Amino acid sequence: MSRFLIGRYRDIEEYTPGEQPQNMDQFIKLNTNESPYPPSPGVIRALNSEEAAKLRLYCDPDCGELTKKLAALYGVEPKNVFFSNGSDDILNFIFMIFCGEETPAAFPAISYGFYKVYAQLHRVDAVKIPLKEDFSIDYKDYCGLGRTIIIANPNAPTGQTLSLPEIEEILKTNPENVVVIDEAYVDFGADSAVPLTKKYDNLLVVQTFSKSRSMAGARLGFAIGNESLIADLTKIKYSTNPYNINRLTQAAACAAIDEDDYYKENGRKIQDCRNYTVEKLETMGFDIIPSKANFIFIKNEQIDGEKLYVLLKERKILIRHFTDPQIAQYNRVTIGTKEQMDAFLKAVEEILREERK
Ligand code: PMP
Repeated sequence: MSRFLIGRYRDIEEYTPGEQPQNMDQFIKLNTNESPYPPSPGVIRALNSEEAAKLRLYCDPDCGELTKKLAALYGVEPKNVFFSNGSDDILNFIFMIFCGEETPAAFPAISYGFYKVYAQLHRVDAVKIPLKEDFSIDYKDYCGLGRTIIIANPNAPTGQTLSLPEIEEILKTNPENVVVIDEAYVDFGADSAVPLTKKYDNLLVVQTFSKSRSMAGARLGFAIGNESLIADLTKIKYSTNPYNINRLTQAAACAAIDEDDYYKENGRKIQDCRNYTVEKLETMGFDIIPSKANFIFIKNEQIDGEKLYVLLKERKILIRHFTDPQIAQYNRVTIGTKEQMDAFLKAVEEILREERK
């Protein structure tokens, strides 16, 4: 730390991203919930030399074409859509502008680790509401809270979901507060709250192109909500970095929307593979939280969570281990292709056999 860093940022406990090894080909990477499938053919075609030549020009700060396409896909108006540089960027804006002294925040105690970092960064008082014993969220804990509420649905790293009637109850009982539903993993079998944005002006749904749309490296997230919430987000984007979605990402995302069926099919394959992996792990004695995401949260009494992570890493398989004592026995495993999961299952089987010796 330099002596120039101003006081309020000195104690920030920054987010630790999952490992991103650059010699990636040597690893089976099941640690950061990326899609195992490449972007669709149209995306690859869109990233051509003609598009690259246009990089001398600034990109469209309004993401005009992309906004129109996405609005049509989700059955909303362009004025209900906001894009930013990854959904992380949008969550950052949300903590910056919808949480504050009069509107403290609330989110589940076990959830996406970035929420508490943003709360600290923006000096937001945040209650972290414990999960139930089975790791599910009790929606009643959020009813009538009078705080800005942020819930990942499916939740991370558990994969558990709230139903739409439960989300609706939270919205109804907090009419004066923004309720944010972070749907990073919604395309793997959960119900989206996007239709509720037409009924509730306090709802913001946040999604990403990083998971189901195979574009984590392009950095694109979006929010759907009432026109005035979107206008607030836009105001802040134009007060920080209006050109935050680069040209290539905009072109790639337009092409991805045109090939939505490809991504839907990949989503189905991942769900099938998730069910297959769960079944196999259960026969090996794993406890698995029911997941509607492209990852599973698993533990096995026979082996310590961290040890399993380390031994798999030695075998060039990366999964995600969290040090928070409440979940240190668990590991989060991204669902890859059937071949990747077979390699993972085989390695786990070997490790458990060694452990029993
Ligand atoms: N929300 C949740 C729940 C996540 O797990 C992630 C991915 N780490 C994000 C948001 C951020 O995704 P991105 O910035 O890649 O859109």
